[in-house]
Amino acid sequence: MSPHRAVAAVPRWDVLTESAAGLYCPPGDFFIDPWQPVPRALITHAHGDHARPGSAAYLCTVGTAALLRRRLGPGTSIETIDYGARMAIGGVTVSFHPAGHVLGSAQIRIEGPDGVWVVTGDYKRASDPTCEPFEVVSCDTFITESTFGLPIYRWDATAVVMRDILAWWNANRDAARASVIFCYTLGKAQRLLAELAPLTDRPVYVHGMMLGMIEAYREAGVPLPEVKQVIEAKGRSRASFAGELVLAPLAARGTPWMRRLGAISDAFASGLMRVRGVRRQRAYDRGFVISDHADWPALLQTIGETGARRVLATHGHAEPLARYLRDEGLESGIIRTAWEGEPSGD
Ligand SMILES: [Zn+2]
Ligand SMILES: [Zn+2]
Repeated sequence: MSPHRAVAAVPRWDVLTESAAGLYCPPGDFFIDPWQPVPRALITHAHGDHARPGSAAYLCTVGTAALLRRRLGPGTSIETIDYGARMAIGGVTVSFHPAGHVLGSAQIRIEGPDGVWVVTGDYKRASDPTCEPFEVVSCDTFITESTFGLPIYRWDATAVVMRDILAWWNANRDAARASVIFCYTLGKAQRLLAELAPLTDRPVYVHGMMLGMIEAYREAGVPLPEVKQVIEAKGRSRASFAGELVLAPLAARGTPWMRRLGAISDAFASGLMRVRGVRRQRAYDRGFVISDHADWPALLQTIGETGARRVLATHGHAEPLARYLRDEGLESGIIRTAWEGEPSGD
């Protein structure tokens, strides 16, 4: 365990503290989303940068457990808790509340002798037919994600983005090209499928790597339209995917798998596509700005609604957000994360 890291303007670390393995709660003797194996891990959601393998025991929501069992394999000790249920652990009481990010995603509320802390994990305020909507939880200290914690990040309404996707798909059909949308396998793919369902009668194809998580969502009771798998159809002409829409994981980009689709136009569905330089650098034909994270206005709105006196930012643009909040008169700081890669589910 590393000593408490000094973060300016954060005088006390009673309920949660930073440790070498991640956020630690001394009175409850558990970790939240640890990046190293620990005896007891409370997990906000099933994305790989939050749910790491190897811990002796996990506690998470029912929806997250359905995804974690697939990701971490059988034999993993996973205890589930319903949204809103209170559980005493050591000297604190914990409860999980919807974060609106992906299936099962939760904010973790910790009530101790010195007040109430909330750890958001990843969250969004936009509606999403595949998960419970975000719930505002009043607290004294709010640990917020800040993946898109810059004023440039502002999302359009989902309906507007879906209209753009349909128009692009139609234009590609007219040009006899396949439309390939790259997106995250856990969360974004299911959200796009659910949003597309009422808008089209045409089938949507998916890369085989996406089937497992789509099935997990279905098993958890999330209604999703039928999908067709892009398989190596022997004897099928390459033109057979002309006009079709295909969802694919980022890992499939540039692989031989792409060749069977024939002529394509490709796109990336992510909040990162808000930045023109990123679109150009990644060289997608199109970028659809649809994110499973809160944008800048939603971060500020949420922070205000919690009534928190102290706000700690983590993940992504933590420093700019903390600085902004300090200028606004709030007590604020940042929490370091060991995760150096791109955020998953962005
Ligand atoms: Zn996430
Ligand atoms: Zn994350």
